[in-house]
Amino acid sequence: MKLAARVGQVSPSLTLAISAKAKAMKAEGLDVCSFSAGEPDFDTPAHIKTAAKKALDEGKTKYGPAAGEPKLREAIARKLREENGLNYQAENVIVTNGGKHSLFGLMLALLEAGDEAIVPAPYWLSYPEMVKLAHGTPVIVPTDASTGYKITPDELRAAITPQTKLFVLNSPSNPTGMVYTPEEIKALAAVIVEHDILVVSDEIYEKIIYDGTTHLSIGAVGPKIFDRTIISNGFAKAFSMTGWRLGYLAGPVELIKAVTTIQSHSTSNVCTFAQYGAIAALEGSQDCVEEMRQAFALRRQVMFERLNAIPGLSCPKPDGAFYLFVDISKIGLKSLEFCNALLESQQVATVPGIAFGDDNCIRLSYATDMASIEKGMDRLEQFTLKG
Ligand SMILES: *Cc1c(COP(=O)(O)O)cnc(C)c1O
Repeated sequence: MKLAARVGQVSPSLTLAISAKAKAMKAEGLDVCSFSAGEPDFDTPAHIKTAAKKALDEGKTKYGPAAGEPKLREAIARKLREENGLNYQAENVIVTNGGKHSLFGLMLALLEAGDEAIVPAPYWLSYPEMVKLAHGTPVIVPTDASTGYKITPDELRAAITPQTKLFVLNSPSNPTGMVYTPEEIKALAAVIVEHDILVVSDEIYEKIIYDGTTHLSIGAVGPKIFDRTIISNGFAKAFSMTGWRLGYLAGPVELIKAVTTIQSHSTSNVCTFAQYGAIAALEGSQDCVEEMRQAFALRRQVMFERLNAIPGLSCPKPDGAFYLFVDISKIGLKSLEFCNALLESQQVATVPGIAFGDDNCIRLSYATDMASIEKGMDRLEQFTLKG
């Protein structure tokens, strides 16, 4: 069969592949420590599940508006105004099938052949692939631990060409966990305004930050950057709702209308009764978010300390998300070789940095229980000793 050229240009998700291999080993009865998951290990909070069940029982089982239930769009717009200082109304918001699909819809609505999108590396692995699927060109700007894996304003400026349409910003970051400070966000905003490009800010980890770190949404810096900002967010990480497939995009009405048209011909509305769970998530108590954040904070501390005590491995202390991005270059293996060998010899699942555009590193998720973290760190230590 001759498949469309666009398929050949993208690679399947490597994170999902390693997770699948680890699951298969578990199914065979092997004692696997998995640090590969990109999702919280908690159940969805009860009041959110109750709201969705109630909606189901009340017959919220039909097609709804493609852009989402009006009540949810209102609740999201209110959240963005009150928590993020972004002056959005319901018409500025579309509810999507996860934060992943909100980004995909955005790329399809915005990019065409010849358009460039600047993506700092290490990046969330779907960004460049989505740009390519939309026939745009990803322009990868490598960063390293010396700048805390953050792109500097000068590096951003140097990457901008007359073809640049979009800058992809992700803070807190997957895979590095780094968070741009408000000053750094302001400096990037100045470059974006100066060169009149657009920025999509993926804020899916905004609630998972540590040690008094501040999350500043780039669109809140001022009116000029606000007009050039698109926000992508969702419920998966903050509320442990990965399987619900609920995200959203917020931005200029013209763009939201375009994404809605695309969505109306592809997925239609997000599962109707699931959207009522999202309304409960936003309108209910936020204590559940804080409880999960505190659990992540403890695990982060333990994993960070244990890891940096292992000779040959190092990572900067992340300010957000639930990942450590670990430099393995002193061990002398490429990231994929390292991850495969570690999985096979010690049954510890991690993700090779090559998937995120950095072959010197691997990603470890600490969205798992403390006992697994202790056991996994023992094994990782064994692995680096034995080689
Ligand atoms: C998890 C994640 C998303 C979105 O996930 P959904 O499950 O589609 O909501 C978006 N961006 C990053 C960086 C992520 O890690």
